[in-house]
Amino acid sequence: MAKLIDGKAISLAVKDEIKAKTEELAAKGISVTLAVILVGEDPASQVYVKNKKKACEYCGIRSLSYELPADTTEEKLLDLIKELNDRDDVNGILVQLPLPDGINEDRVLDEISPLKDVDGFHPVNVGKLSIGKKGYVSCTPAGVIQLLKRSGIEISGKECVVVGRSNIVGKPMAMLLLRENGTVTVTHSRTADLREVTKRADILVVAIGKPRFIDASYVKDGAVVIDVGIHRGEDGKLCGDVDFDSVEPVASAITPVPGGVGPMTIAMLMYNCLSSVCD
Ligand code: NAP
Repeated sequence: MAKLIDGKAISLAVKDEIKAKTEELAAKGISVTLAVILVGEDPASQVYVKNKKKACEYCGIRSLSYELPADTTEEKLLDLIKELNDRDDVNGILVQLPLPDGINEDRVLDEISPLKDVDGFHPVNVGKLSIGKKGYVSCTPAGVIQLLKRSGIEISGKECVVVGRSNIVGKPMAMLLLRENGTVTVTHSRTADLREVTKRADILVVAIGKPRFIDASYVKDGAVVIDVGIHRGEDGKLCGDVDFDSVEPVASAITPVPGGVGPMTIAMLMYNCLSSVCD
């Protein structure tokens, strides 16, 4: 039976560490502020933003909320970002994605100062990650590294396979595993024999965006399996990209969905906000 990697407990530990640090800073008169921008009324985005604000409150991070109507122009959004870039009392800026049609996401994300880019999406921070320099790292893959480390799972020297090559998960995940001295293979929709590659993995990270795609036939006996995927089924229940019931008996450790990678993403956002002041 696989060890269950408890993202809820680990994320709480991370948030408690952040809370202790913000209390220390507050005693010295230093505050940490995150500006959160939401454009439109997408219900899923509203929930994400609400959860981020709740996490800020828990961690002692001040959050400023900008909720703009769906017909906001790109120029208006860019003006707001410029204003927040210039404000000394704002440490981090987050624009909730996706943005409504007609707004160029890349242009908006590029406008956020790399020094306030707590999502780690700005090309400067992506570049820093790839050359091993300090910068903001995309929260979900950073959370996966914390899950592994805090579960006592060694990455150095291990065969690590990442399924998916998106800019926000797969690619930064690969760079982070490489930074931890894993031997990393990235797979994608054109990978010729996915099963043959994933079967080599000591650590398998799945971010493919397809419900329960990875079953036991893709997994080596004793592998550590990290499921980044999140989907709501027709029954209203959440599931991941990994078929948990099939994989759990062969893995040595596995993340559940919900309660695995998901909670870590917000915890690492809080960590990035804190590091905007501490580093
Ligand atoms: P994405 O942008 O859709 O990327 C999916 C990747 O999977 C692509 O690189 C794609 O390859 C690859 N892929 C698709 N079908 C494949 C196949 N049959 N074989 C091998 N590779 C295949 O997704 P994402 O944004 O990375 O997200 C992945 C999952 O993680 C989603 O379920 C998403 O909801 C979830 N997610 C969760 C969190 C969290 O906080 N827990 C955060 C972000 C994302 P190509 O590049 O060749 O198309």
